[in-house]
Order: sequence, then C-alpha cells, then structure tokens
Amino acid sequence: MTALGRWGKVPSLMLRPFTLHRPRTAVEACELLARLGDDAAPYAGGTELLLLMKEGLARPRHLVDVKRIAGLDAIGEDGAGLVIGATVTHRALERSPLVKTRCPVMAEVARHVANVRVRNVGTVGGNLAFADPHSDLATLFLALDARVELISPHRRRQLPIADFVRGPWETARAPDELLATVRLTPWAGRVAAAYVKFGVYERPTLGIAVALQLEDGGDGGARVADARIAIGCVNPRPARVPGAEARLRGCAVAELEGASGAVAELAAASADPADDLHGSADYKREMVAVFTRRALGAAAARSRGAQPAARYPYAVVA
Ligand SMILES: Cc1cc2nc3c(=O)[nH]c(=O)nc-3n(C[C@H](O)[C@H](O)[C@H](O)COP(=O)(O)OP(=O)(O)OC[C@H]3O[C@@H](n4cnc5c(N)ncnc54)[C@H](O)[C@@H]3O)c2cc1C
Repeated sequence: MTALGRWGKVPSLMLRPFTLHRPRTAVEACELLARLGDDAAPYAGGTELLLLMKEGLARPRHLVDVKRIAGLDAIGEDGAGLVIGATVTHRALERSPLVKTRCPVMAEVARHVANVRVRNVGTVGGNLAFADPHSDLATLFLALDARVELISPHRRRQLPIADFVRGPWETARAPDELLATVRLTPWAGRVAAAYVKFGVYERPTLGIAVALQLEDGGDGGARVADARIAIGCVNPRPARVPGAEARLRGCAVAELEGASGAVAELAAASADPADDLHGSADYKREMVAVFTRRALGAAAARSRGAQPAARYPYAVVA
C-alpha cells in the first residue's frame, strides 16, 4: 500500500479531529486496522504522519498508536541474529550496547539520522513503513540482508527488505498488517562495513552502504568472500549493485583501493536518478561514483583493522 493511503489532499495546516486508539497488544492493533480499514493508520513517533495530516495530505479518522504495544520497543537476539522492534527509536538504536557490539555500523548510521528531536521519537518501523526514498535505514538494511516481519490478525510473514520497499512511499504492507520487527543475521567471521551519506537538506541526497565479508586469503592476507553495495536516495527505492558486488568477491583486501574506480563506475552506471531539488540526474550519477569510492575506501580501511580517516563537508562516514 502507499504511505499516503487513499486520503485526498486538503489545504489546511490544522490537524483534523481523529480518534486515538491505544491497543496493548499487536493482535489488538491489527484487529483495529482490519476493522477500520482505510480510515485508520498506525501511529508511532508521528514525525511523518502528523506532518502529512497537518498538510492535509493524509486524513485518517483513526490513529492506532503502536508505541504502547509490549515488546515492540525491544532490541534483542534470537538464534539467527538481531531482532529490532518496530517502535525502537533511532536514538535507542544509536545507544544500544547490543547493536554497538553486533552491528556497529547500524548504531553509527542511526546517530546521523535527522536531528536529535526526530531521533528521539522517530522509529525504525515508521522509517521503513513510510518508504521515503531518502531513508538511510532502508539502504543500510538492504546491504545487511535485513528482513521485516509483518503481522496481521490471521498471519505472520517475513519479507526481505528488497521486497518490502516497492517504490517511493509504497510498501508490500497490507492495510491490516503491522510492521513488527526487523531481523538481521550478521555474517559469520570478520565483516567490514561503511555507510557514507551526503546531503545539504534535512534528508540525505545520497547514501551508500558497503558491507564486506572477509576470509583468509591463504597468502597471509585477507580477501573478500562476499560483498554488498546498496545505493540509497537517488533511485526510486534503495538498490543493490550486483555487478559491483561480483567485482569485489575474491578481491584481496590489499587490492580493494585499486578496485574502487571500477566498482564506482559500475555503481554509477546502475543508478536510476531523476532531476529534482537535490540535483540533476547527471550530478547524482556522478556523486554515486564519488561516494561509492569513498564508502569502499572506508570499508577497505576497516578491513585492514584501521579506522577510516576521511571526513568531508556534509558527508558522514559511519
Ligand atoms: C526533519 C526530518 C529529517 C529527517 N532526516 C532523515 C535522515 O537523515 N535519514 C533518514 O533515514 N530519515 C530521516 N527522516 C525520516 C525519519 O527517520 C522518520 O520521520 C521516522 O523514522 C519515522 O518514524 P515515526 O515513528 O515518526 O513514523 P510515523 O510518522 O509515526 O509513521 C510513518 C508512517 O509509517 C506508518 N507506520 C508507523 N509505524 C508503523 C508500524 N509499526 N507498522 C506499519 N506502519 C507503521 C504510519 O502509518 C505512517 O504511514 C527525517 C524526518 C524528518 C521529519
């Protein structure tokens, strides 16, 4: 469904009256969504939804507050890996000792989302369910092979993030479904990852995520066993670059910097940008090349056990 639902545009900066429902369980919330249909929307931090409502772009008459649902704000582990509840805020993700230990790049990315006011109330689930193309989390989660878990009164299903985010403000979520958790299975062994973003507005113009799984190269050095590169913000939805990932597989860590030019060109060629206020399509394609090189450089430094030294204006190396 689209994040805007079927509500029409009404020019007003006032919130229209609505009924706030505060279910205590996920089942209760899903039953409300099923019963109220298009008249209802899940409501978490409200950083997107309330803006839309004030602008008259969304007019739900019922908000189903998901923040009081027990357990949905938890960050934990199961047998397969990390489980992040939908109502976990960016701030909680940034500060979680478990996330810092198991997936440090995620804590760093969360630290650079928006500003502290948005991070304090904005949630992981709200970010993904809104499917704004300028999402750092969706890009990072794509590179990390994350899956979302959706629940409804009658079923529970998991989808890879690539299948969940269908396009700008559009996801595979059915109206009576709730996004419950995001699940990540960290790669075994050594991993080096980096996320580089760039932007001059509140939301990023570009985000590049790189994750490298490392193995013993047999010659005393390490090499890349598997790789993920995801481009965010410039395409209608975050996209991986299979050609660039294939180029990196088997590459010795010592040769990563040398491969970065070819990898950056493959990434730029795969991009599908449009002209908008963030810049022209040509500009964005060029920036994809530049920032893929930088992200790979940061991941290469981490592969060697070093910290990336580079700092650029407006850019964040997480
Ligand atoms: C000024 C500003 C700057 C920003 N900068 C960045 C940035 O740099 N990087 C970035 O990644 N993001 C950025 N964002 C986006 C921000 O991350 C999101 O606004 C926030 O995470 C949304 O979460 P929320 O809980 O407030 O969602 P809400 O506003 O409550 O909901 C958003 C949408 O998701 C639906 N929804 C919410 N929770 C669920 C659920 N559990 N299941 C199903 N549907 C649900 C709602 O119905 C609604 O359609 C920015 C936002 C603002 C306002």
